[in-house]
Amino acid sequence: MDILLLGPPGAGKGTQGVLIAERLGIPKVATGDLLREAVKNGTPLGLEAKAVMESGALVSDDLIMRIVGEELSKPAAANGVVFDGVVRTIPQAEGVAALLATLGRKIDRVLFFDVTDEEILERIEKRRTVEGRADDDPAAVQRRLRAYREQTAPVLDWYEARGGVTRIHAIGTVEAVADRAREALGR
Ligand code: AMP
Repeated sequence: MDILLLGPPGAGKGTQGVLIAERLGIPKVATGDLLREAVKNGTPLGLEAKAVMESGALVSDDLIMRIVGEELSKPAAANGVVFDGVVRTIPQAEGVAALLATLGRKIDRVLFFDVTDEEILERIEKRRTVEGRADDDPAAVQRRLRAYREQTAPVLDWYEARGGVTRIHAIGTVEAVADRAREALGR
């Protein structure tokens, strides 16, 4: 089963994605985590992405598709994955659909994590004090929210036009939101 998590930064995709992936026994493809790892290790990919990520803008679709292609080619990904933080643009939606099609697969379900802007700002501020992410500083957060509104929000319409989207009320405890996600997936 291939599942895609959509929603603004700070909506809880990362936290819920781990729980879903563990429950279904499939890996999570989290482009943000993979990029941060590449930056930390100073790989060519990390060097390419670092400044853009820290500014709060989106890295190029081309770079993201390279990462996704590599992840999907791993044996562990053969029975499906949980996409977290990717797809963020329409070209990425098309690119992921094309990649999955070569494997005879498609996105089976999109979970859209619905939260208010106030809740997002509160959560990101909390995360900044805990994780110290460079792109959680106020200027970068504004940039990320703008990138979300301008480039990622249209992705929800793209998937809704194709069916298979469930909106999850993503405010409440981690357990409460996890229950809603489980219900949406039927497992
Ligand atoms: P995240 O941890 O998902 O919030 O991602 C952190 C940052 O990595 C984003 O603000 C972007 O700069 C970059 N990034 C992660 N995933 C993508 C993606 N699918 N498309 C473009 N940029 C991405």
